[in-house]
Order: sequence, then C-alpha cells, then structure tokens
Amino acid sequence: MSQELIIALSKGRILDETLPLFEQAGIYPLEDVRKSRKLIFDTNIENVKLIIIRAVDVPTYVELGAADMGVAGKDVLLEHGAKGVYEPLDLKIAKCRLMTAGMKNQARPQGRIRVATKFVNVAKRYYAEQGIQVDLIKLYGGMELAPIMDLADEIVDIVDTGNTLKANGLEAREHIDANISTRLVVSQGAMKMKHRLIQPIIDQLAAAVDAADNAAE
Ligand code: AMP
Repeated sequence: MSQELIIALSKGRILDETLPLFEQAGIYPLEDVRKSRKLIFDTNIENVKLIIIRAVDVPTYVELGAADMGVAGKDVLLEHGAKGVYEPLDLKIAKCRLMTAGMKNQARPQGRIRVATKFVNVAKRYYAEQGIQVDLIKLYGGMELAPIMDLADEIVDIVDTGNTLKANGLEAREHIDANISTRLVVSQGAMKMKHRLIQPIIDQLAAAVDAADNAAE
C-alpha cells in the first residue's frame, strides 16, 4: 500500500502566497480551498492531502505527527517552541519583523513593565535576556490598542510596513527577530519513515522559492 502524506497549511494571510508556491512545486488542491468549509483536501497527487488549519496549530500537528509536513510563520514556530520538528526550508514569503513597540515619544517606564502580546513565550524570553521585569498580558489581536487604553506599557508584535503602529500613534522600539518569514517544517518521524516522499517535495519547493526570488529581482 502506498504511504499517505499529510501537509498542514496555515490559513489566513500566508495561504494566498503558499498555494502558488506549492502549485509551482507540482502540488495543488482539487478544489478551491477558499470557497470550501472543508478542512482536508485531496490534491492532484493521489497520496498527498492538504489540511488547512489555524497557523498556531500547525506546529502541534507536525510535532505530534498528525501531519507529516507543515507551513508556518517563524513567529508561530518561535512562540510554540516546535522542538520536535525539522525546518528544512525558508519559503521566503510573508516576511516581517517581531518587535517591541510603545506610545510614540513615551520612554519605557523604569522598573517592572506591563507587556501585552500574543507572543508570551517569545516576550518572556526576550525581556528576561534584557534583564527587564515584566507582567505579561496575553491578547489575541489588536495589540496596538493596549498601550492606548493604558492596559500595557509596551507590546510585542509583528511589524511589516509599520503602518498599523503609526496609525495608532505607536513607534517600534527594539527588534526581537528581524527575519520572520514562512518556513516549511517536517515531522522528525516522517522525515525518517517517509523520506522518499518528502525529499522530492522539499527539492521542488526549494526550486519554486528560487524561481520566485529570481523573478522578484
Ligand atoms: P504593518 O501595518 O504592515 O506593519 O502590519 C502589521 C500588522 O499586520 C500587525 O498587526 C500584524 O499582526 C500583521 N502582520 C503583518 N505581517 C504579518 C505576517 N507576515 N504574518 C502575520 N501577521 C502579519
């Protein structure tokens, strides 16, 4: 019996850039994933299926081996820890930075500060490295609002153009990671057991990334 391969894709903003890369690499879903409420999709390759889930869940599926491969932002991987996964390829899409930010022209208060973020693990590590004591406030979105409403002194968030910070009267302060982009991850078990299926996909995706890179230059 032929082995089945499950690839977990992050829904949302990354998906629109991921699907063309996969198509270029020779894998595409048999129906329009954006128009369907299904979560699992057949592809043009008989034994390859795509599951389309929330970005934050991708590392969990891949680490626990429920998916063999996945596509997730480096921000999500850093926050999750993603210890049990290989990260063989940078897909070089959805590039952005993880930064601290606060109200414009307002210095960081002395002593213990309140930090609002959805990246609590990343923030905890970062401020500890800086020797700054923090109270972390977990939010699920709209972090920029927290300093405005005096819920927090600072936020840790994704910055792309910086327009969202600017529109809300905030300024970026420090880079936590300047090289956030979308990564291909592979379960350690699958890399061993399904290497014959997985390696050609990594190679084809690498070629698709190179082609997209060259076209952009
Ligand atoms: P910007 O205004 O271009 O700096 O975009 C910042 C907002 O868009 C933030 O609130 C982020 O949550 C979101 N964002 C931007 N780029 C990404 C990305 N690559 N992945 C996830 N969220 C992003």
